[in-house]
Amino acid sequence: MAEVNGAQLMARSLKQQGVDYIFGIVGFPVQGFAAEAQRAGITYVGMRNEQAASYAAHAAGYLTGRPQGCLTVSGPGVIHAFAGLANAKQNCWPMILIGGASPVYQNGMGGFQEERQVELAAPYCKYAHAIEHVHRIPYYVNQAVRHSLYGRPGPVYLDFPDDIIRAECNEDEVIEAAAVPEPPRTQAEPDAVEAALSALESAERPLVVVGKGMAWSRAEDEIREFIERTQLPFLNSPMGKGTMPDDDPLSVGAARSTALREADLVFLMGARLNWIMHYGLPPRFNKDVRIIQLDIEPEEIGANVPAEVALVGDGKAVVGQLNRALDNRQWFYPSETPWRAVLQEKAQANMEAVQPMIDDDSVPTNYYRAFKDIVDWLPHDAIIIGEGANTMDIGRTQMPNRLARHRLDAGTYGTMGVGLGFAVAAAVTNPDKPIVSVQGDSAFGFTGMELETMVRYNLPVKMIVLNNGGIGGGVHPLKEGQTLPPGNLTYGARYEGMLEALGGKGFYVEDPKDLRAALDEAMAYNGPTLINVPLNPRAGRKPQQFGWLTT
Ligand code: ADP
Ligand code: MG
Repeated sequence: MAEVNGAQLMARSLKQQGVDYIFGIVGFPVQGFAAEAQRAGITYVGMRNEQAASYAAHAAGYLTGRPQGCLTVSGPGVIHAFAGLANAKQNCWPMILIGGASPVYQNGMGGFQEERQVELAAPYCKYAHAIEHVHRIPYYVNQAVRHSLYGRPGPVYLDFPDDIIRAECNEDEVIEAAAVPEPPRTQAEPDAVEAALSALESAERPLVVVGKGMAWSRAEDEIREFIERTQLPFLNSPMGKGTMPDDDPLSVGAARSTALREADLVFLMGARLNWIMHYGLPPRFNKDVRIIQLDIEPEEIGANVPAEVALVGDGKAVVGQLNRALDNRQWFYPSETPWRAVLQEKAQANMEAVQPMIDDDSVPTNYYRAFKDIVDWLPHDAIIIGEGANTMDIGRTQMPNRLARHRLDAGTYGTMGVGLGFAVAAAVTNPDKPIVSVQGDSAFGFTGMELETMVRYNLPVKMIVLNNGGIGGGVHPLKEGQTLPPGNLTYGARYEGMLEALGGKGFYVEDPKDLRAALDEAMAYNGPTLINVPLNPRAGRKPQQFGWLTT
């Protein structure tokens, strides 16, 4: 029988397990493996920084529903990609990091880029292992994919040493492994399903919170049916946005703080009571708030606030159970209640508070005015990437999502610099959709060199940089003799010129009246574009009720 080498077997096994994309940077010892991956039918995307490649891999995993790959060289390459492992772990998104490693026979000798990679990857992973034998590669890939995908999704690590990559074994020695099927959709206890509906019926001020766990579980059809039948007010979490359309009449997104603070019962679906949800605690939540919690991870139940009803299971399956249980009840939340009136009033007041900023045509412009044209222009099915503190927060309130898994941002870990990697992943996995990224100048700068990746693969990402010359905003102009503040960046830096120099199309838009034309021209251009919009460095957001923990 024919011989097969480690690189070939790894490529074949990954493809067999549904890993269709690898984002990475080649070099010792993985160069040959990347070429084998291409031969096996995997789309390989060569990037400029492992950090961005690791971000791309887990965004691709979230968007496609299977773990996708990140490939790095040994030592420093693996270390750089830990950024993505940690981010994937925090967001509960799958990915496989394949780290090249120095040859096993040199272990401990101070080999080139030798590092304790498995040990270091382990805290960021659900599963981390070194491959010791060529013939067992399919077994390890199966393990990695299964751990990444089943239960609460997360990142996994496979260490791939140089001598294993090059070693050969006979085909009949290979220990083959079955392709990992879609995760089983576990159901909640039937009694808990009834208890959840009874609790909802008993609430005066109920609120449903839809998190990105529901987006991940592809539960959008079930949730829509549930909301339509129960008529419950709901709120999408930052990346849950679009699982129910933001512009649905039952959305209370525009009254988020009031909805969270005054609800007497919150049905938390695939979202955690972490910092994004203010831990479920006062002053952001009612101190007596009752919680119904749906999560696939039993250990998550009761985190920070005890749950009155626990629905442990897969989001899509459990909301399906709720819908079936509704058949036996003649109940929906009434159309006119004091709670609905409070929420409507607050939403109206919030919208009125920002209207003057939306209508302000002064130069340099402000966030809200810039978003006005962006929102009018955004295609219905755009995948929207947002990051940079104010740009992301204001963008989240201004840019509606109508479809599930169409928003990517700094996420649970609050990671800045994910944007261009996410945009590459979105463009590669969704070639038929418009990809729009709106970033602050600081967020953009973390991985700005990925512009070259976008040009090389001609990814038609439409980037907008809202540029206030600083981290959070710079001080411009400086006083005579003033020391440069730590957060200052160059005001008016020509980031669009970087893209032009690399072969894409750039726009510099100072007057907001010119923004719409630039956006249209960018959309018509077949390739990456960047619109650089200098903002008034003092432009801010609507004053928040609590200055701390605003999201
Ligand atoms: P958000 O940022 O939207 O609030 P989080 O990341 O905090 O969301 O929470 C998502 C939750 O969804 C996690 O606790 C995770 O365990 C859960 N989850 C992941 N997959 C599923 C699934 N298939 N069904 C239900 N819950 C899931
Ligand atoms: Mg800035």
